[in-house]
Amino acid sequence: MRRFLRASAMHAVAGLHLDEVMFRCQRWRASHGAPLVLVVEMHETLCCDAAQLQRQLEWVAERFALISPETFFGLWDRTRTPPSWFKPAVVFTFDDGRASNYTVAAPMLESMGTRGLFFVVPEFVGLTGQKARDFYYSRIDPRGLPPSESAEQWTPMNSDQLADLTRRGHSIGNHTLSHVSLAELPPFDLERQISTSAAKISSWTQKSVEASAWPYSWNAIDREAWGWIRKTHRFCFSPCPGTTNYSKDSPHLIWRTEIEAYYSDALYRFMYSGMVDAAWARRRRRLQAMLRT
Ligand SMILES: [Zn+2]
Repeated sequence: MRRFLRASAMHAVAGLHLDEVMFRCQRWRASHGAPLVLVVEMHETLCCDAAQLQRQLEWVAERFALISPETFFGLWDRTRTPPSWFKPAVVFTFDDGRASNYTVAAPMLESMGTRGLFFVVPEFVGLTGQKARDFYYSRIDPRGLPPSESAEQWTPMNSDQLADLTRRGHSIGNHTLSHVSLAELPPFDLERQISTSAAKISSWTQKSVEASAWPYSWNAIDREAWGWIRKTHRFCFSPCPGTTNYSKDSPHLIWRTEIEAYYSDALYRFMYSGMVDAAWARRRRRLQAMLRT
């Protein structure tokens, strides 16, 4: 039903050119002092979707300023002069740490002059063969789908690749130690899933871990878990769509919009237009109330 509604809305928007109207509004707001950033949440970036992803990135680069995670983190540093973009900005994040992010997404972002933020799961990092496949289908995507024939679907990055991405200017973030829901976990498990996980990533990249993103749905977290993340990370990314205004929004609750590499031209244009933001306003408010931000 949701898919049907989204497809209907998408076609109505495309037919009326409302997405182009939205882009003009966003650009006007950005050039009149509203510092807007759209944070994109992607997952796998498979070889078979590389051409489609390239097309998406080129289309985005014409309408948005592409910024790296380092630039994004620096926006909350009040000692720096805020940048003056004439377009809204986009930063790309990738969840789960698939090897396809290393082979496809990272070089593509570099060729566009930007970098990515990769949220990884330390217990998944470096697994190969059957172990990687079992972990993927039990922890990362437990929807009970028939396993893919292609190992690219479920193969994670290894620790050398994470270190290499860091050297090349990308950032590695924390997506919990074993991809668990952070709602209602006892303190011992919270420490393991958040702090131990960050320490493990840090031991591979030789850098402190600035950002954490919780897995699953927008409300798979509670105030206790959020407190742990805040204590150990400068930034907390949600799986809840919206556009971040860095002059007003907390770095501890960053909105993210899921836009996948395989999305059709019509679907990604619709998602970048920000037309879904309004539909998520109530859930954003509920999340803020739940966490008492
Ligand atoms: Zn995930």
